[in-house]
Amino acid sequence: MRAISILRLSRQLAKCVLHHQMRLQVRNCNLAACSLQHNNANLHPIWKGPLDIPGGSRQSPIDIRVRDSVFHPNLAPISTQYDPNTCLHIWNNGYSFLVEYDDCTNKSVVSGGPLENPYRLKQFHFHWGANNDWGSEHTVDSKVFPAELHLVHWNCSRYRTFEEAIMEENGLAVIGIFIKLGRHHEKLQKLVDILPSVRYKESLTEFNYFDPSCLLPTCSDYWTYSGSLTTPPLTESVTWIMMKKPIEVDHSQLAVFRSLLYTAVGEEEKNMVDNFRPLQPLMNRTVHSSFEPALKMSNFKKADVQAG
Ligand SMILES: [Zn+2]
Repeated sequence: MRAISILRLSRQLAKCVLHHQMRLQVRNCNLAACSLQHNNANLHPIWKGPLDIPGGSRQSPIDIRVRDSVFHPNLAPISTQYDPNTCLHIWNNGYSFLVEYDDCTNKSVVSGGPLENPYRLKQFHFHWGANNDWGSEHTVDSKVFPAELHLVHWNCSRYRTFEEAIMEENGLAVIGIFIKLGRHHEKLQKLVDILPSVRYKESLTEFNYFDPSCLLPTCSDYWTYSGSLTTPPLTESVTWIMMKKPIEVDHSQLAVFRSLLYTAVGEEEKNMVDNFRPLQPLMNRTVHSSFEPALKMSNFKKADVQAG
């Protein structure tokens, strides 16, 4: 009985959180204010199945609290080596658009940082909002960005396939990059130009020469923590590497993202927007940083002065 009611409660809570996800910038759900009167008709179909992992303790995304992150001096910069020739195609999977890579060899990999061996690039995709006030999955001290890029890699030393790695500990490494509104991103434009050809769900088009390292910020500082996929199956197999500095794109580029559709040809059109998962509890986890937080340093100096 107890297990059932907890399950019901967690489902109700998840529905409420998702309701907020679809409509509001407010990311914290007040269960009392979220009655069942809100049907889930507006929910994306991927969220109509199981919404969380029973007993999950390392779910993503999270709010990164800068002052609570722990500087780890042994965290080296990550190193990416991507061969643009391994780029295969771009497709609309009905939730985002994916640029997929040939992962039969080690030609496109990330290594270093918290990773014990190279991880192969499988695909990258984005999450974004209906407007510029929200859209990212992770947040930094509750700051939300209009979009977030995920470069998804899998541990080819430990597992035979991407599908196997998804389900296992240390299976995946995802580099997350915040996107803010600003200057036109010249290199991203090649991708933006081809997006109208994958406007509808399930459309796929050739896209065979693209080096995603052009989408990394120049600053190599990052946070890292143990988390999960942010789409079903939500497995807790991801080492997250969240770059500290956002990259900039301009309004016209985000507008093309928002012109994509969740729906297939012939269906009632629904724009692909707000395709992010709500924040998940940190629980018993530590976010490590590869850099010394400036805030802590200034506090330290202040304390020094006062002590002197
Ligand atoms: Zn993602």
